[in-house]
Amino acid sequence: MKAYVVERLGGPDVMELRDVPVPQPGPGEVRVKVQAVGINFADALTVAGEYLTETKLPYTPGMEFAGVVDALGEGVSGVQVGQLVACLGGSGSLAEYATLPAASLVPVPQSFTPAQAAAFPVSYFTAYHALQTLGRGQAGEWVLVQAAAGALGTASIQLAKAMDMKVIALASTEEKLQIARDLGADVTILQDDPERVQKVRDAAGGKGVPLILEVVGGSRFQESLKMCASRGRIIVIGNASREAATLHPAALMKRNQTVTGLWLTSLMFDREASAQAARALSELVGSGRVVPQVGPQYALADAPRAFQDLLDRKTTGKVIIEP
Ligand code: NDP
Repeated sequence: MKAYVVERLGGPDVMELRDVPVPQPGPGEVRVKVQAVGINFADALTVAGEYLTETKLPYTPGMEFAGVVDALGEGVSGVQVGQLVACLGGSGSLAEYATLPAASLVPVPQSFTPAQAAAFPVSYFTAYHALQTLGRGQAGEWVLVQAAAGALGTASIQLAKAMDMKVIALASTEEKLQIARDLGADVTILQDDPERVQKVRDAAGGKGVPLILEVVGGSRFQESLKMCASRGRIIVIGNASREAATLHPAALMKRNQTVTGLWLTSLMFDREASAQAARALSELVGSGRVVPQVGPQYALADAPRAFQDLLDRKTTGKVIIEP
């Protein structure tokens, strides 16, 4: 089968498409015929050698994907061959087949297309934990969503609106702001508007925003502190700017603000929080209030270009690769 192999980190160009043996599922594992791979900013940072964790080389990128179950390892029950599943593993899905523990399967409605299923787990579970588990968002409260037309941004707007929150969306182009408005964002502001800090504070009644989903980082982090209300919460989810940010903890004292980190990978080990998120998301999907936003779709051979387009801010929704 075809699979990408990365032997040294450095950027999308280090990804090589090779012929490798089809993997066999071990005990407790399933093999999935991969139909759609969701590409996250974290995948691009991992290939670049800039992610939170150390990567053992060689490796096959791709943490999130969907496809049909193709073979069951010993001891697997409750999963049918031929069933559409979404999968969240550490890596290994930029390939025609992938094996993973059955426990890492994410149930999805059989009505989802493979691309919708691959666009679901990372962005929607992260948005849920940001808005609910850690952010404790309330109906009627304002929330600031950065990179609002991206995969996480679009998921965050949909979930915030489903929670009856009021959304201020930031993004880099008018086209991206229109996507945010189409999903229900109440106020949209260009990411580079020179008046952005004041405009955000004004939009939230002049007192700043009670909840900020921070994904850009770098010098923008200081702006988030200024946009944030007294007793406001900033959930640090990402650092898309790839720049270092400075925070003097004492700066939080003056307006009693809270900064909380969020990493989905470690939250997945919190069984109670994960089960609660899965229940809530399943209801929202069932009611049609949450529809995964599928972005540009690329063939397997074009995966390096997909990674570069994501890094270059050219994409909206979830970037999908179809093996
Ligand atoms: P997106 O689809 O949102 O794409 C990234 C977006 O970031 C771009 O489209 C761009 O939007 C914005 N951006 C802002 N500044 C820059 C910059 N200097 N360079 C590149 N992009 C920039 O990606 P994801 O949904 O995968 O991820 C969004 C963020 O959330 C990332 O920081 C990611 O690491 C984080 N994340 C973290 C998770 C966690 O567990 N902590 C889980 C999921 C995502 P625009 O052009 O509008 O500014």
